[in-house]
Amino acid sequence: MAQSMKTFDLHLHTTASDGTMSPAEIVRYAKEKGLRVIAITDHDTIEGLQEGIREGDKVGLEVIPGVELSADASKGTMHLLGYYIDPACSELVDNLRVLQQARMERNLAIVEKLDALGIPVELSEVKAAPEHGQIGRPHFAYTMVHKGYAQNIQDAFDRYLGKGRPAYVEKFRFSPEEAMHFIRKAGGITILAHPFTLNRPEPADFDALIGELKEKGLDGIEVYYPEHSDGQRRLYRDVAQKYGLVISAGSDFHGLTKDEVDLGQGYGDREPTYSLVEAIKARREQRLKGL
Ligand code: AMP
Ligand code: ZN
Ligand code: FE
Ligand code: FE
Repeated sequence: MAQSMKTFDLHLHTTASDGTMSPAEIVRYAKEKGLRVIAITDHDTIEGLQEGIREGDKVGLEVIPGVELSADASKGTMHLLGYYIDPACSELVDNLRVLQQARMERNLAIVEKLDALGIPVELSEVKAAPEHGQIGRPHFAYTMVHKGYAQNIQDAFDRYLGKGRPAYVEKFRFSPEEAMHFIRKAGGITILAHPFTLNRPEPADFDALIGELKEKGLDGIEVYYPEHSDGQRRLYRDVAQKYGLVISAGSDFHGLTKDEVDLGQGYGDREPTYSLVEAIKARREQRLKGL
């Protein structure tokens, strides 16, 4: 069944991180699909923003400059989206550089671990994999499949690259406070991405965590996300409302690969309406006024 499409998509990736479309391509694609506004939220990088915004101006599509940062969580995986960040903010730029440096060192450590397992993979080969920009484990997985060391991407993760597997190397992350601080310093607002990955199904447990994050500067929650069930959406929406947080919606689009959810899709049935975007804009205006 075709899913209903919305005119906004506030979470997507370009070739600047691990998407398959360049910023300009994704903007043109969004325009063709009838979207009004997108946020470009690449992992740990703002390299795609300038191109995306310029193309947006050209074709008449609003592009919110964003980023997606991984943060340290005691449980599960925490990703934080920054919206309306100033790509020229030197504190943000410097700290993204710290992440990129750490990622490079981690990649070298993965190469060593694979080598010790009898899987020779050079970083230069990984760079030649089709999706590049920011090299991460998916790129290693692709190269391993290509060289015949794994049957498919999932197999590479299940046997080698996944957490707890022999080629796994822990990633450096900022604390949620640090990540939210950098986003705020760059003039942005912070949205908790896909809360289901926090792995806190207990409503009281989730509520308590959001209460803590709000104290530390959280502005909103990505309630609408392809992998969220009706029950999850309801919980996340209720908790957002309780704490006066804005609500966001994103597909986490990485390009038109098989099984990928398309732009502006995967939010559930009828909701949300465009007023969600207006609430996010209002939040940003408040921030600019120092409220
Ligand atoms: P990295 O940033 O290098 O840690 O890679 C993270 C990406 O790897 C995620 O966005 C997923 O696409 C992918 N990934 C992580 N864990 C798994 C897994 N167990 N199975 C398949 N893909 C995974
Ligand atoms: Zn990604
Ligand atoms: Fe994410
Ligand atoms: Fe993402």
